[in-house]
Amino acid sequence: MDIFKTQESNVRTYSNRFPVIFSSAKGCWLRTEKGVEYLDFLAGAGALNYGHNHPVLKEALIDYICNDGVAHGLDMHTHAKAAFLTAFRHHILAPRNLDYKVQFTGPTGTNAVEAAMKLARKVTARNNIVAFTNGFHGCSLGSLSATGNQHHRGGAGISLSGITRIPYDGYADIDGLALFKAMLEDNSSGLDKPAAVLFETVQGEGGLNVASVSWIQKLDKLCKAHGILTIVDDIQAGCGRTGSYFSFEPSGIQPDIVTLSKSISGYGLPMALVLLKPKWDKWSPGEHNGTFRGNNHAFVTATRAIEYFWKDKRLETHIETCALFIKKEIEALREAYSVLFEKRKGRGLMQGIQCKNGEIAGRLAELCFQKGMIIETAGPDDDVIKFFCPLTISHSELELGFGILKSAANEVAQLITRKAS
Ligand SMILES: *Cc1c(COP(=O)(O)O)cnc(C)c1O
Repeated sequence: MDIFKTQESNVRTYSNRFPVIFSSAKGCWLRTEKGVEYLDFLAGAGALNYGHNHPVLKEALIDYICNDGVAHGLDMHTHAKAAFLTAFRHHILAPRNLDYKVQFTGPTGTNAVEAAMKLARKVTARNNIVAFTNGFHGCSLGSLSATGNQHHRGGAGISLSGITRIPYDGYADIDGLALFKAMLEDNSSGLDKPAAVLFETVQGEGGLNVASVSWIQKLDKLCKAHGILTIVDDIQAGCGRTGSYFSFEPSGIQPDIVTLSKSISGYGLPMALVLLKPKWDKWSPGEHNGTFRGNNHAFVTATRAIEYFWKDKRLETHIETCALFIKKEIEALREAYSVLFEKRKGRGLMQGIQCKNGEIAGRLAELCFQKGMIIETAGPDDDVIKFFCPLTISHSELELGFGILKSAANEVAQLITRKAS
């Protein structure tokens, strides 16, 4: 453990919460070097939707490596990239009647968001972008300006500009869209006409706040009426997390631009992309550049993941069943431990439970870890426990996870009741 304390920067976070050394992982399980196993309800913050080292993806990757497949290719044409684009068009875009060009960016989510913001500003020749309260879009300067969290923003060291903040659906009981509409229509509201709105349909880091279908449709309509581009940041909510491949599918909207990253490679390999309506593909070659836009190992596992999990409705049905189970478990927990919990948050396999405060949530996460489960908190006060298991989780593993949480809740509730009496 000393090597981390002496050598690794203080900027590390997850390792503070889970201070053990992991050495192997499979499916929903992480294993330490001492052989202790933890049920993984964090799943790489949504980067491991198909679990750790899925055998089908692993086999494709090993084959590719053994055949000396190109590993790094800048943005040169490779067989692996062609296979990915073909599978993505055939299994994801075409069945959903979506027409997008694919831009490969540097392999992190934040780089995809940077590209999306740059493109929206370029094609509209406007500077302002609307982002929402509690939104999270990454930590490089452009995307950080759109991120709400003050802890992250504080790290910038310079002023963050170019963003107008509007209340998200349900924020403090304010009708953010009514405000936005009024300001757009008032020539002296002081709102510079935006190039785009940038939003998550379910706010992952911001506390699993859900935008309703009607809110999304209203926002889309408002943007269309004013010639403002819509950018959906689907980096966390996409790739099946909310139940459909894209999180915006239930709303029926077709955003101008979509960002994907976290689980796009399916294997936890770095990869990110931007989907753009063909008419917005106004980039000139190399205008948004990057050395690692061609992580071919990620293309291989991404292709296999799409072909294996998205060729039929099996995974979607499984997600729906699991989501229903989680919903019921959360409602039962709320009833049993009203001293601890407020309300259920999120949708699909992007659900959580809001605790009375961040201290309770933190204590629960800590106890779960002691009992063999890795789980994280989200929200402005870290008061939401986030159930982020792999989408491929089995029913018995789900039951096991909620059993651990229940046992932790029992302990914390007893402690609180004892203190109060
Ligand atoms: C994680 C995340 C990002 C940033 O991705 P990184 O790979 O951490 O840069 C951006 N947007 C959303 C919605 C995210 O969840």
